This record gives sequence, structure tokens and C-alpha cells, in this order.
Amino acid sequence: MDFRFTPEEEALRKEFDDFFREEMKNAPPEWGTSMEAMFGLDACWQFHKKMAKKLAAKGWLSRPWPREYGGLDAPLIEQFIFSEVQGYHRGAGVDPWGVQMLAPTLLVSASDEQKKEHLPYIARAERFWTQLWSEPGAGSDLASLTTRAVKQGDHYVVNGQKIWTSGAHRADWGFLLARTNPEEKRGRGISFFLVDMKTPGITIRPILSLEGSHLFNEVFLDDVRIPAGNLVGEENQGWLASQMTSNFERSMIMLFSFLKRELDELIELCKETKIGGRVITEDPIVRHRLAQLAIEIEAGRSFAYSVVWNQHKGGLVASGHMAAAAKVLATELNQRFFYTGCQIIGMYGQVGESRWAPLQGKYEKEYQQCVSLNMGGGTSEIMRNLVCTLGLGLPRSW
Ligand SMILES: Cc1cc2nc3c(=O)[nH]c(=O)nc-3n(C[C@H](O)[C@H](O)[C@H](O)COP(=O)(O)OP(=O)(O)OC[C@H]3O[C@@H](n4cnc5c(N)ncnc54)[C@H](O)[C@@H]3O)c2cc1C
Repeated sequence: MDFRFTPEEEALRKEFDDFFREEMKNAPPEWGTSMEAMFGLDACWQFHKKMAKKLAAKGWLSRPWPREYGGLDAPLIEQFIFSEVQGYHRGAGVDPWGVQMLAPTLLVSASDEQKKEHLPYIARAERFWTQLWSEPGAGSDLASLTTRAVKQGDHYVVNGQKIWTSGAHRADWGFLLARTNPEEKRGRGISFFLVDMKTPGITIRPILSLEGSHLFNEVFLDDVRIPAGNLVGEENQGWLASQMTSNFERSMIMLFSFLKRELDELIELCKETKIGGRVITEDPIVRHRLAQLAIEIEAGRSFAYSVVWNQHKGGLVASGHMAAAAKVLATELNQRFFYTGCQIIGMYGQVGESRWAPLQGKYEKEYQQCVSLNMGGGTSEIMRNLVCTLGLGLPRSW
């Protein structure tokens, strides 16, 4: 693998970075304090949408897509450079479900009509998406889902319940997995649909997180009529498309570069913090912990680039075991980062909204939230199972 970037790529990185540095000056104060603020707080959501429009106007949400669907036909590697810069500046403006998961899936699996119907809206940041997959009885074992879609004329009628639906209360559209053939076992009878969240019969109920923020929802579907034209791919073949969607989610470059930014900030805080008249950066335990985080972030970043490199060479879909490994590496490092940060900050790490809270109480929030990323998009245990079967060639154990 060649780790060097071309002068053009470096120039692009600078252009992205200059843009975010300027624009992020207008971010609401809560923006950087929690991963979930974007969906939970009105000011953050409005800022996110405004940023999305600005990025869309530059064509940066859809650079690698074909021009006919609102893209710039740019090399995939440029999109990853963008994601890395955007992660460092804490993620404003990119719909993780629409831009990062659904759009690449549509490019591979959807009909031309569906691509024309949805991709330009995503590229222009005019439609935000949510992922309607997990159910109360189907998470890790997603193939056991029971939400039912029955074909009636030119519509499917859908009944069931979804849960942990991130950002459903903000979304315009959702991508849904539902069972179209109850006779078929597991993934084989499942189909992939696109659904307008304003369709009658959809009820969204909030689920508040441990620290009180609103990211998750329950979504109830009662006789929801979805036009047959919103079925992506073949009926009963949605499982394959959903596996692709999952791999797009897992190169993790944004999370590694987000952590790099957090580390830079934590180091600055340590340089300013004194205990007993001495700055804590003189303490060997603090120094070694910071060094360990720096090592792991850099190693993770390199690994994410190798995932990207493979995608760049072999097509849009990351190889499953590498994407799964990147997910474990990034999300477990994220958890270690905030646990370590809390230990360094000491008792102040438990202070939330107070003038005494370092970094606006971020560590108090992140300490409670960070473990959730180990589960979202597939738990670490399931990711390790994928590494075993797809990467190491071990037999399935379940
Ligand atoms: C931050 C976050 C965001 C999310 N966003 C969305 C969203 O937008 N849309 C959506 O549809 N879903 C979403 N989810 C749901 C997520 O996909 C599920 O929580 C996840 O797949 C795990 O399913 P579960 O919660 O039912 O746990 P379970 O599947 O019940 O797992 C419970 C425990 O058992 C372990 N386990 C289960 N099976 C095995 C096995 N075979 N081998 C080893 N261990 C196993 C798991 O690792 C876990 O520790 C989100 C979750 C989180 C935390």
C-alpha cells in the first residue's frame, strides 16, 4: 500500500480543512460535546442542515458518484480524505445514513429510476434518512426480523415495529428491512424498501439515552402502504443489499480522525492543568496514557486507510472482515479514549453542566455514551465473529 498522497490530494485536503475551520466557528456551543447532540438539540440540528446545504453546494457530499446522479465522478480516495477532515472537525453536515450508507447501496443495487429519484436529493441535502432495521427481537440476529410486508396490487402493506432508530424524528425518508416471505428461513425472505417517513401509519416514539439525549426512537408501522416501486432489488433479496450497506458504514476513518481531534484537545487541557503547582503533563502516568492513545489512533488511522485502499482498488464495498475489524478497533478505542480521559481529568470528569466542568462537560457525557458505538451498526462480538469466519476461515459457531 502506498501511504503518500498526490499534490492534488493534499491541496484538496487543505481546501476541505480551510472550509471546515471557517464554518465551524459558527457551530452552536454544544456541537462538540456529544455525538448525539446533532439529533437531540434543535440548534445543532439546524446547524447540521445548514452545513449540509453548504457542502452539497460544493458537490462534496457526492464527489465519487456518477454525474448523472448528482456526483462529480471523483476518485473514491478523495471522499475518504473529505471524511477524514470532516471527522476532525466533528462531523457537521453529512447525513450518516443517507450519504454514507444508503447512497452507495443504491448505486450498486437500485434501479436507474430509483437512483434518479433519490440520489440527487441526497446530493443536494434535501432528504435526510434513517435506518429501519433493528427490532425488539432482532438486533445481532437481524435475519430473524418479523416486520411483515405483504404485496397488495401496486403497493406493499407493512406492519411491525422497529427500535433504536437513530434520528428517525429528524428524517424525511427511511430504508427498511421487512419480511416478504415468511416461509423462507432467515435472510432469504427479506426485502429492502425505501419509505417516506410521512406515510400514514408510521408512529415515532422517542427513547432517551442514559444521559438524557434524544437520538433513538421506536418506530411503529401499522398498515403502512409503500409503493412497489420503492422495493430495492428483487423481492426476498434484500439481505444482500443490507450486507453491503453495513460494510459502507465500517471503514471508520471519521471516528479515528474525530479521536485525533479529541486527543489534541485533551493534550491542550493537560498542558494547562496543574496539580500541586505542577502541570500534569509532567506526570509520567498521564504522559504515557496520552502516548498510548496517540499510538492507537495513528495505528487505527492507518488501518482505516488500508480498508479504503482495498475499496479504492476493488470497488465500493469494503471486504467484510476488514470493515468488521475497523469497527471493533475504532469503537473500542473510542471507549478507551473517554475512559482514559476521565481518569486523567479526575473528579472533574464527573461534572456535567457547570462552569467547573472541563471542556463543557464533554467527558461526563461521553463517558456515558461512548460504549453505545460498540453496539450500533453491529456489536463488537458480532464483528469478531465476522473476522473469524470471513477473515480467518474458521467455521461458524452459531
Ligand atoms: C448508538 C446506536 C445506534 C443505533 N442505530 C440504529 C439505527 O439507526 N437503526 C437500527 O435499525 N438499529 C440501530 N441500532 C441498533 C443496533 O444495530 C443493535 O443494538 C445491535 O445490532 C445489537 O442488537 P441488540 O441491541 O438487539 O442486542 P442483542 O442482539 O440482543 O445482543 C445482546 C448481547 O449478546 C451478544 N450476542 C448476540 N449474538 C451473539 C453471537 N452470535 N455471538 C456472540 N455474542 C452475541 C451481543 O454482542 C450483545 O452483547 C443502534 C444501536 C446503537 C447502540
